[in-house]
Amino acid sequence: MKYLQNYINGELTDAASGNWLDNFNPATGEAYSYIPDSGSGDVALAVEAAQKAFPEWAATPPSQRAEMMRRIADLISKNLTELAKAESVDQGKPASLATRVDIPRAVSNFRFFASAIEQFATEAHITNYTTINYTLRQPLGVVGTISPWNLPLYLFTWKIAPALAAGNTIVAKPSEITPMTAFMLSEFCIEAGLPAGVLNIVHGLGPKVGQAIVEHPDVKAISFTGGTKTGRQISKTAAPMFKKLSLEMGGKNPNIIFADCNWERMMKTTVQSSFQNQGEICLCGSRIFVERSAYDRFKSEFVGMTKKLKVGDPEAADTDLGAIVSQQHFEKVMSYIALAKKEDGTVLCGGNAVEMNGRCANGWFIEPTVIEGLPHNCRTNLEEIFGPVVTIMPFDSEEEVIGYANATEYGLSATIWTENLTRAHRVAARVQSGIIWVNCWLVRDLRTPFGGMKNSGVGREGGNEALRFFTEAKNVCVKL
Ligand code: NDP
Repeated sequence: MKYLQNYINGELTDAASGNWLDNFNPATGEAYSYIPDSGSGDVALAVEAAQKAFPEWAATPPSQRAEMMRRIADLISKNLTELAKAESVDQGKPASLATRVDIPRAVSNFRFFASAIEQFATEAHITNYTTINYTLRQPLGVVGTISPWNLPLYLFTWKIAPALAAGNTIVAKPSEITPMTAFMLSEFCIEAGLPAGVLNIVHGLGPKVGQAIVEHPDVKAISFTGGTKTGRQISKTAAPMFKKLSLEMGGKNPNIIFADCNWERMMKTTVQSSFQNQGEICLCGSRIFVERSAYDRFKSEFVGMTKKLKVGDPEAADTDLGAIVSQQHFEKVMSYIALAKKEDGTVLCGGNAVEMNGRCANGWFIEPTVIEGLPHNCRTNLEEIFGPVVTIMPFDSEEEVIGYANATEYGLSATIWTENLTRAHRVAARVQSGIIWVNCWLVRDLRTPFGGMKNSGVGREGGNEALRFFTEAKNVCVKL
């Protein structure tokens, strides 16, 4: 059993309490490592170290910060296979997916923001040729980042990279459920020579460690990704302290399919947008609306393709869906399948836990599940399930489907399938989501604003949006 450690002031340390939490492999259902059960004392030490490191890191020229970030990116890249395997063991996702998506994306996050900070420009306003205003964008100081378990290293670095690039120092908390790759990253930071205290990683439970980061008066901003309920709790604590807040939260994303779409492309992508990463991606399209004239064809082909997906050992190369991240989450997803049945939904395929053999016999696996026959406004269609479960529903008109799409409290992403360009733009403008994909899904350009509307988010990440979040704008007005 491996013991993970916090990364505070450049060193790997145990929690002050000396206590440990079990870290499970969801594919086997067994604890395979321990993480420090940290508390507010550990967070206070991390903030102190970050404060001490701040003046020098903030004064380090952007090109040198960028160089350090590229060194870390190189180490992640060099250890890609090992990291992908660790991510798969910790999270339950297929190792092939972590190799293809998660770890390369962590590399890109560092590389992208390293070059973004070198290109980062600011505004100047000339007033009547007699006055010049220019805007300084200065780092905030110590910032807190809190990330979830679904895309562990990918989302952890999505926050850390812009914060570091902009000259802040950080106290970061990965999800207690998936701490392994963040721990490995701390080892790479040491190897790369990142100055002590610039990045601090404190492991432990959300209500203890996360809450202590949010409450700490010297943490100037919080960048959070996770559930809407947790986001609400963080806002409650941080808002009266007037901290800067970026909240990326839950989703219940509509996938709107018009009969005139490129069918083959839509079918292939819809299987992915429904079940990739066991449906544990905040951007998965869990509510599928299909124009009535194409509904029967869609239903039969989609169910056929879903039945062919292989739920299996995350280590196996031919596995499409791995394990559900934790027993608690497994039970939550299964309870929503039960709810859908209670609401008179018909399970077209899946709906059951998967009985596995061998080393995965005690793991948490669920069949990819397709449900029909539910109204758009029942609980199954309004609440986030965050698992391999989708509902399919027919619609007759554009107006009707826009109403369905906008009926939830969420507004993270939406997908629209049509070859009618005018309609695509018209619907995109009216669907209440921060991210709209037309004829594609999960296609990302890291320069674009990323985030949700309504209860899915406050603020945007990505590109200059992230660099602006992690800096304070100061206007300087000079009379000539
Ligand atoms: P949670 O909200 O449970 O946890 C997210 C993080 O917050 C974890 O590190 C957690 O720690 C921590 N945390 C928990 N309680 C507190 C607290 N009181 N104060 C501070 N931090 C706390 O989310 P999940 O990890 O379950 O992730 C799934 C959710 O994330 C889904 O709702 C999904 O939609 C959303 N998500 C949103 C994305 C987006 O971009 N909008 C992207 C990916 C996921 P611990 O794990 O130790 O409890």
